Amino acid sequence: MAEGRLPHLAALRARGTCLPLRSTVPPATFPAWTTCVTGVNPGKHGIFDFTEMIPGHYALRFVNATFRKAPALWTVLSQAGKRVGILGVPGTYPPEPVNGFMVSGFDSPVATRVDASFVWPPSLHPEVRAWRFADFQETEIGEGWHDRALNSLLDGIALKEDIAVRLLAREPWDFFMLVFGESDTVSHHFWLFHDPRSPRHRPGFEDAIRKVYERLDAAVGRLLATAGGEVCVAVVSDHGFGGAGTGVVHLNNWLAAQGHLHFAPERSGGMKRFALRWAPEAWRGALFRRFSGLAARAEGGSRFGGIDWARTRAWSEELNYFPSIRVNLQGREPEGQVPPEHYDAFVRELCAQLETWDAVARARPRGEVCHGPHVGRAPDIILELAEEDGYSLSCLRSRGGPPFSRIRPDEYYGGKERGMTGTHRPMGVLLLSERTHAAQPGLEDIAPTVLAALGVAGPPMDGKSLLAEAADGVAEAPDIVEAPYSPEEEAMIEARLRALGYLE
Ligand SMILES: [Zn+2]
Repeated sequence: MAEGRLPHLAALRARGTCLPLRSTVPPATFPAWTTCVTGVNPGKHGIFDFTEMIPGHYALRFVNATFRKAPALWTVLSQAGKRVGILGVPGTYPPEPVNGFMVSGFDSPVATRVDASFVWPPSLHPEVRAWRFADFQETEIGEGWHDRALNSLLDGIALKEDIAVRLLAREPWDFFMLVFGESDTVSHHFWLFHDPRSPRHRPGFEDAIRKVYERLDAAVGRLLATAGGEVCVAVVSDHGFGGAGTGVVHLNNWLAAQGHLHFAPERSGGMKRFALRWAPEAWRGALFRRFSGLAARAEGGSRFGGIDWARTRAWSEELNYFPSIRVNLQGREPEGQVPPEHYDAFVRELCAQLETWDAVARARPRGEVCHGPHVGRAPDIILELAEEDGYSLSCLRSRGGPPFSRIRPDEYYGGKERGMTGTHRPMGVLLLSERTHAAQPGLEDIAPTVLAALGVAGPPMDGKSLLAEAADGVAEAPDIVEAPYSPEEEAMIEARLRALGYLE
C-alpha cells in the first residue's frame, strides 16, 4: 500500500478501518477460519487442525465441517432468511444446505471434474466446476517449480474472481464470502526471494509476493464494483506472515533427550506416504475418501511408527505450523504411561522444562490457550517457538538425533521435511469499510460484526461486534434535554469563575 500498488485496498482503508487482527493460537488455517465464521475460540468449535487423534488409538483422522461444534455465520443467517453465497472457505466440506449456495474450500476431497460433492446446491456445479482446490505439488520443489507455481497462483486468482463475480452479480446477496488462499501459498514459498534480510535469501522472483497481492487487489476492485454502492466490506486474513530462518527443532528428539520418549525400530508405515507421493494431485482427495480408514491408520503409523509407547510419557506430532506435545495418558491412549492423577503436575513440569529450552518461547497447557467443552480435542501442551532475529524456527520430523539442527543451504527453498521459507504469524490484518472504536480486534469478532451489520441476532459468541460501539451510540444515545441554570445558579457560577480568574 505504501508503494501505491494496492489502490483498491488503500481506498477501503481510507473509507473505514485498517487494523492488525489477532489470529487463533496457533495461527493455523482450520482453527482460524472456523473461529472467524463462528465467533468462538477453538475450545468451543472443536476444530484445532486438519486432523485430530482418534480416541483410543495412536492414529489420526481428517476432520471436516461436520466436526464443527458451533453454528457458522451462514447457518445463522440462513435461519434468519438471509441470502448467502460462500466460496472456498477452508473447513467447509461437505457443503451445507444454506439459503443460497456454498462451494467448499481447498480441503474438499474432490477427485474429478464430474464430482459435484463440493457444491450446494448440486445443480450449481456446472458453473463452478473449474474451481481450483490445489495448484501444484508443494513438496517436490525443484528446477522451474517457482515459475510454474507463480503463474498457477495468478491464474487461480483470475479463475476464482471470474466465478465469484458471475455469482455475485446474480442477486443482491445479504452476505457473500470468498477466500483466496494464494496470498498464503505465495508467502510460504517465495518469502526468501521477497525479503533481502532473510537468512535464506536467494535472488530471483523478488516481486512474486507483490504480484500476487497486486492481482488480489485488482480482484477486490472488481468484486466491489460488482457488489456496487456502499456495501459493508471486510477484508480479513486468517493470520499474518513472516520469514523462517535456518534453525530447526526436533521435538521428539528433545523429549527423548529428557527421557520422556523412547524410539522403537520403525514399523512399516509407508503406505500413505507412498500413495501420496505417487498419486496425481487431483486424485489425492479421492484416495483419502475411499480409503479414509486406511489413510488415517497409515498417517498415524508414519507419524508415530517409530515410538516405543510402553516407554514414552509424551510425544509430538512435530507439525511445523502447530508445534505441540501430547501426553501418553493412561485410560486415553492404548499404552498410556502417565496416570490421570499425575496429569496436571506432569503437564506443568513439562511446560516449565520446555521453557528452559532456548528454542521454546512459551509452553502452555491447552486449558490456558482455549476454553470450552471441546478443549479435550487439542494437544495437551501448545508451544510457541522462539524466533531468531525475527525469523521463525521450523519444527520438523525426527527419529533420533539432536533436538536442534540447521537446514543446509541447498534446502533453503523448503519443501518436504525442509519447512517453508515463510511462516504464519499471530497478527494478521483487517480492512473494514466502517469505522470502529475497537483497538485490538481478533478473528472471533468478525462473525458478530457481520451479524450486527445485518441486524441478525446470533448465538452467544466470544467475540464482539466491531460496529457495536458506533451502533449502540446511535441506538442508545440518551435524548439530550437542555436544563439551563436558574438565575441564582448562574450568579453562583459567575462568582466562582470570576474568583478563579476566568472572567474579567
Ligand atoms: Zn499457510
